[in-house]
Amino acid sequence: DATTRLSLRLIPYSEELWLLVARDVTKLMRLEHMRRDFVANVSHELRTPLTVVHGYLDLLDPADQPEWAPMLAEMQRQSQRMTQLVEDLLTLSRLEAQEGVVDDPVSMASMLATLRREAEALSQGRHRIVIDDRTLAAGAPLDLRGSTKELHSAFSNLVSNAVRYTPAEGTITVRFAPEGDGAVLAVNDTGYGIPAAHLPRITERFYRVSTSRSRESGGTGLGLAIVKHVLNLHGARLSIDSEVGQGSTFAGHFPADRVLPRDDHDLFPAPAEA
Ligand code: ADP
Repeated sequence: DATTRLSLRLIPYSEELWLLVARDVTKLMRLEHMRRDFVANVSHELRTPLTVVHGYLDLLDPADQPEWAPMLAEMQRQSQRMTQLVEDLLTLSRLEAQEGVVDDPVSMASMLATLRREAEALSQGRHRIVIDDRTLAAGAPLDLRGSTKELHSAFSNLVSNAVRYTPAEGTITVRFAPEGDGAVLAVNDTGYGIPAAHLPRITERFYRVSTSRSRESGGTGLGLAIVKHVLNLHGARLSIDSEVGQGSTFAGHFPADRVLPRDDHDLFPAPAEA
């Protein structure tokens, strides 16, 4: 469109003067738009051929050609990875184009239960999984407001990272607690940790700390970019604390207007008065 987009910055100059710097970012935004559309279109176009390859691979029976079995298994693994990559790229494009987020009550009891199930399925008994709902323990159970689907996709990414980057016998803790007027949902692990030098760039698309370990882990390199976008859309801040060899904590800090005391909505309607 023909609208001009400006980026404005106010800089203190002296005790009485401020500088207002206006930059024309119309072209920059148009390019960004084109990049986004391009990625979304390519991802979409890749879906169909991938489905076909996947479908035929599933039909090939390794019993017919036993010496092909390892190759077939590898092709299946890689085509699954590519499918996940395409799905993550599409999710990211959708989130980038989105301006707001639905504002529904998000049941934290079922969110936490789902995250526990997912962590247990991924870990297959190799880790201790702890769910720590301080809002319940304090007798003031809270819920969040927003998109259940998107919040779930963000925290399920964090839980899957915690499992994948923590050696066996480690502990994964998902903690939900009040924080000021808001709330915090945090995923902690006792895993490999992330060197401080990598932290500033860790949420960029495809940014990975140790490519070999990350690649073996089966991720796409897009998980944290998705997490950051989902939290942004919810007005929440992502914090990352990590120490090499000790573990990491990824937390979403939700402001007051994203928190819903459970009494305020009708998950458990009060009995009608006589
Ligand atoms: P990936 O699919 O590679 O896991 P992510 O965007 O989810 O992509 O994460 C980016 C990188 O951050 C990972 O490759 C890994 O190096 C590092 N990372 C993410 N979560 C953790 C964690 N809980 N512990 C250690 N490293 C992590």
